[in-house]
Amino acid sequence: MDKLKPWQRLSRKQSGGNGSTGDDNDGLGKCLDGECSKPATCRCTYVDRRQVKCGTTWCDEHSRIVLGLPYCRRHATVAPSLSNGFFTHMLPDVENRAPSLATWVGGELDTAVRIALTADAPHKDAYVVSGAVRPVRVPGSTMPVWLRAWTLVDSTGVLQHVSIEVDEEDDRAVVVRVGGEPMGRHQPPWIGRPRNETIAPELDAAARQAFRITVMHDIELGLLGARMEVAS
Ligand SMILES: [Zn+2]
Ligand SMILES: [Zn+2]
Repeated sequence: MDKLKPWQRLSRKQSGGNGSTGDDNDGLGKCLDGECSKPATCRCTYVDRRQVKCGTTWCDEHSRIVLGLPYCRRHATVAPSLSNGFFTHMLPDVENRAPSLATWVGGELDTAVRIALTADAPHKDAYVVSGAVRPVRVPGSTMPVWLRAWTLVDSTGVLQHVSIEVDEEDDRAVVVRVGGEPMGRHQPPWIGRPRNETIAPELDAAARQAFRITVMHDIELGLLGARMEVAS
């Protein structure tokens, strides 16, 4: 079929010798999303640092294209790190949720952290810089932590630094730091919930909101502590 997208041709070539000449979607089966009944249209192309492939299959709605290649939603968050080749030796195990959790929580907190840091600025020419989640090596550990950082800077340099991180070795909790000092460690409410457990949307939203408030409380406290230190 000429309708094949480039990556589908590629993955067929890689799986090799399948010999299927029928509709290619047949080989992919159904989308793996629990509530989705559509046929899968692509296969996640993620390969971890041990060369283990994800290979899960999804429909267009439940997959993400990053830099021209399809990924499942979890690995779409890691895919940007692939683009600069530098991090390929640090790509987490297929099953590891550290990068996706750090990305998720970072996205949820982004606005609030920027507001808190801006409010903390000593003058109007300071501004907040924040990039994508990235892996960082920690001394004494073989596994990286995945970190999202927000930095308050001005022309003289770094004024304050806030980060959240998820350790690959403990990928169920988020550690919050202000100025490099650990302020707290929190497990998001949706982690550990059985996959098939259904929860009312308003309860889910309330739990997420409570989680955001708890983490932001740590950050505000850290910023306040640092301000008092400067003042004393
Ligand atoms: Zn789907
Ligand atoms: Zn994947």
